[in-house]
Amino acid sequence: MRFLTADYLFTLYTTPIKEGVLQISDDGKVISVFKNRREVNQNQLEIFEGILCPGFVNAHCHLELSHLKGSAKKGKGFLEFSKTIRLRDNYSDTAKKQAIEEAEKEMISNGIVAVGDICNKVDTLEKKQKENLTYYNFIETFGVDLNNTDVVFNQAIELRNEFRVAGQKASIVPHSPYSVPPVLMNKIINAFDNADELLTIHMQETNEENQLFENQEGAFFDWLNSMNATSSIWLNRNKPTDVLQDLSDKKVLLVHNTFARKEDITDNYYCTCPRANLYIENDLPDYSIFDSDKLCVGTDSLASNDSLSILDELLIIQNNSNFDLNTLLKIACKNGAKALGFSKLGTFRNGKIPGVNLIKNLDGFKFTADCFIQVI
Ligand SMILES: [Zn+2]
Repeated sequence: MRFLTADYLFTLYTTPIKEGVLQISDDGKVISVFKNRREVNQNQLEIFEGILCPGFVNAHCHLELSHLKGSAKKGKGFLEFSKTIRLRDNYSDTAKKQAIEEAEKEMISNGIVAVGDICNKVDTLEKKQKENLTYYNFIETFGVDLNNTDVVFNQAIELRNEFRVAGQKASIVPHSPYSVPPVLMNKIINAFDNADELLTIHMQETNEENQLFENQEGAFFDWLNSMNATSSIWLNRNKPTDVLQDLSDKKVLLVHNTFARKEDITDNYYCTCPRANLYIENDLPDYSIFDSDKLCVGTDSLASNDSLSILDELLIIQNNSNFDLNTLLKIACKNGAKALGFSKLGTFRNGKIPGVNLIKNLDGFKFTADCFIQVI
């Protein structure tokens, strides 16, 4: 049994507790929260400088792209970035495997306990079976050409089943509004079963995406036409978020939303990946438009980020929003756990096994560039 205390305890289901004490079992289960150190035998107290919060949930990552770290030039826009992704197979299996290994280690040392991870391939499965982290695997479909719909979908079913047979949580998801025509979207919806809990989709990551649906023009329009894309992608959809009309009875997590406007926001879950947005588009979402109870945070992949650190992401969000520290930590822990359906994670409520992060070097209730995590 351990009794952990620091300057503040952020339980994320109560207001922050000054010098609160967290009692956990040796295997990390929350037994109790005490409002005062005096309620606990002083000899048992482990006293830390900083704040204590639950383990982080990285709501959006592509672990299988880790070997592309540093390959894409910054600030060149999404279409230029996507060229780097198309080179993903020009690397040895050993290089890919090693990068996955290092990326997972990095997430663990940065206090991440669970990941919503996009998968196009089986590359990460071996690592995930070690269960160092908890994963929800989103098997991504991208099929702009109707001639390929069946192939794309059947491959996704096969990959999903492979993950499920290995004991992993896995669901088939659409990549984005511009890469999944209605025919493919219907197949995805019809394949949804009791084991599926969440559907995630990249949304409004670039301004060209808005242009495509609103005016049927621009760089995305040209790019899609060059790939023999079906016009059914944009003809009956007037804005990217119109794809949500078919998903109204599903739990949905919309990722990026960099170019979302207030009128685009629905009561779905939202995930922001600020450092990836800065990396690719050199832009950020307008954080004032989101419901902070529905906002999650992700790192995206190392192809579009220098680190896999939720703390690094939070610093950017803090400096570009009005969210206070407690809200930022909810975004980093509780909301992601709720969206991904990880009921044992996200807060210090009794019975959960959420992991414990000590964050040091805050300036009062503000993150600074000097902050760092110690996993307790
Ligand atoms: Zn992504």
